[in-house]
Order: sequence, then C-alpha cells, then structure tokens
Amino acid sequence: MSVSSAGSSCPVLPASRKPSRASQRLGHVADLASPPPRSARPTRAEVLADRFTLFAAAKELTPYDVHGLRSRVWHCLRTPRRGVSMIGVWHQPRTKSGTVSGTQTCGSVWGCPVCAAKIAERRCQEVAGAIAAHRAAGGVVLAVALTFRHERGDVLADILGRFLAAVRAMQSGAPWVRFRERWSVLGVVRSTECTWGMANGYHPHAHMLFFLEPPRTLDMATGERVPVADWLPDVAGFRGQLLQRWQAVADRFGFTMEEVRGVVVQSTADFDAKVIAGYVAKYGHEPEQRRWSAAHEVVKGHTKRGKPGRLTPWDFLRRYVAAETLKERSAWAACWREYVAAFAGVAQLRWSPKLREWLGLEAERSDAEVAAEQAEDGVLLASLYLDQWRAVWRAGKVVDLLEAAATGEAAAVWAVVAAATPELRAGP
Ligand SMILES: [Zn+2]
Repeated sequence: MSVSSAGSSCPVLPASRKPSRASQRLGHVADLASPPPRSARPTRAEVLADRFTLFAAAKELTPYDVHGLRSRVWHCLRTPRRGVSMIGVWHQPRTKSGTVSGTQTCGSVWGCPVCAAKIAERRCQEVAGAIAAHRAAGGVVLAVALTFRHERGDVLADILGRFLAAVRAMQSGAPWVRFRERWSVLGVVRSTECTWGMANGYHPHAHMLFFLEPPRTLDMATGERVPVADWLPDVAGFRGQLLQRWQAVADRFGFTMEEVRGVVVQSTADFDAKVIAGYVAKYGHEPEQRRWSAAHEVVKGHTKRGKPGRLTPWDFLRRYVAAETLKERSAWAACWREYVAAFAGVAQLRWSPKLREWLGLEAERSDAEVAAEQAEDGVLLASLYLDQWRAVWRAGKVVDLLEAAATGEAAAVWAVVAAATPELRAGP
C-alpha cells in the first residue's frame, strides 16, 4: 500500500492579502486554502438543520459501550434537568440564535454536534483573548501543525494512543526545557484533531499555538527593560529545531514523517486573533463547514457520489445520512463508531500550566461546564411546561422552535409550540 503523510490535508490559516516578512521567509503559502464563495455558505437555518441531522445520526450510531456517551447524547438538549419544572426558550441577540435552558447537556466535544458547536465557539473566544493579551505585551504567536505518516488500514485507537503519548513526550524532559528557553516560549495551547481521507485513512494530528516572549532592550529614557518593538522570531530556525525534536520522539513511538509535513510552522503576524484561535479551537471541531470542502458539497447536495477528500468526523455522519446503499451506510457508520470510541475521554484543547495565569485569563472551565452555561445576555421569549416541551420533541419541531427563537419573536415560538401541541394549552 502506498504510504504518505497527509499533512497537506491539515487545515491551515487562510491567505492574507499582504504576506509579512515572516511569512515570506517561511514559504508555506502553497498550503493555503481559499474560502468558499459567499453564495455557497449555508444559511443559519441550513446550519441548524444540518446540526440536528448530525445530532440524530450521532444518537443512532454511537456505540453503547463508550463511557455512557450514547446515553448522555440521547438526553442532551431533550431531558429536563432534575428539579426543573419549566424549559426556557431564549433569543441570543449577539449571535442571533435560539437556545433553551433547563435541559441536560452532554458536554461531549467529540460526539455531540450541539455541544461541540457551543464549546468550540467559547474556546475560540478564550484563545483569541489570550492571543490579544499576549500581543498587547509585545509577544508573538506561532501556529504549528504536528503530523506523522499513516495509512489506510491503521487502527485509529492504536495510532491515536501512540501519537498522544509521543506529543506528551515531546513536551517533557530536559530537551523541551532547553527548547522553551532557547525560543522564550511562555506557553503552548494544543488541540487534537482527526480528519480522514480516502487515500490514507484516519489522520489524527495536533495544532499548537506557541506563545513566544519578545527579547527586551534597555529604554534609555526610562531606564526600564522594554520589549523590542516589531520583533519577529527566526521561524525557520524554530521549525528546524522543533522538527528535530518531533522526529526523534516520534521515532521512539514507531512513527516516521516527511520532512516537509511532519512539522508545519506558520507565522501569525498577519492574522486577526480570532482567525488564529479558529485554527486550534474551531476547524474540524465544530460541526459547521466554514470553508469549501467535499463535506460542504454534501450539505449542498452537489456531489453525493463524489470521492471524498479530507473529511471531519462530522462528515462521517453526513455521508451516512446521504448514503444511497446499505454498504455505504455501514462503512460510514463504522468510521463514526471507530472514531468516537477512540476519542471519547481525550482532551481536545490543552493549555500549558500557568499560561492562562500569565496572560491574566480566568480559571479554565470544563467542557461540561461550558456546554451547560446559559448566556446571561439572552432574552427569555417563552417558558414551556414540560409536557409542552416533550410534545415539541415528539413532533420533531425542535429545529423550528430554535429557528423561531433566533428571530427574537415570542409569537413565532408560541406558534411552533401550538402546532406541536394541538391538545395542550399553548400559552403560558
Ligand atoms: Zn450534547
């Protein structure tokens, strides 16, 4: 079987209009993807409908023996929390979306498209805040992708376990301390992600943001040591040393890599903090397709029979739903099951110790806490009795309810409830 690294399938930062000195020096622009045309982007209603299609497929396909995940996803957004007697339907003005309160949330970043979307959004905001704080102090952030060679037929649980162990090993011991000192690394944010390709199978990989401190110089006027203005690190030198370290450690865990793909480093000087944060916290993690891809076309129904390129695990569910033969359905169902069993329990995003503290961020909240949080700036549109809420689910009208709440019109919400509950009193 032909073997090659699938590093080219890693999401990378989109091209900026004016490459900086650093990115010109770096020479990785060949990888950059172009965004979809505006007209090709799904509408809010399409995104919501897609998310609930995935949600239904995840409930159907997630195996019973994965840390209670199937049961948690089943109850997510549906079963009232203990002691709750009314379900709140909210409008969120900032995101122009509808949300509900009072239901259980599963908090699964890997197995639940509803929780994953919410957690990805919050993590992205946090990481963007960290980047902005670091930049304000004169610091620089480098974006890194770590990959290895893999092939179709690899067992995901096996390569993922070894890969995570290798990454942990890379980030420990005396050589890592020396690397951090050499490059003034204040800390690292690391996310783990998995894509899949027809040619090379599962592609677990890591995205890392390195927060580098600028050198300091003596300010003659004040006598204080201040950060060197407009400082840029030697990105090629950084990459060379990191590649050497990654190759040495990965070898111990039985991995090889192509020199070009094993470690990809991008300067982020040209990019907005939110775009860079999306690089580690969103792409591949949230169910939405933000860029043109085979999966995007599935949503649009253009190429249902096309050969898939890079797919995220959410695309396994899309392909499962869109499949036209039993054989295809079984194949995509098997992909989802293998993926969700391997990833359940793996941390998606990790901050190196003390980095949040140094950047002045509040203590980290767990995925479950983030998923359960109720936005405080929301507008309460309706409070439903539990039998009304259950009737909305039974009638398959939850997407309609959330879409109505997204408009901010209480009457629209009550119209959905009334349609779902002809036998019940629809008003409060
Ligand atoms: Zn959930």
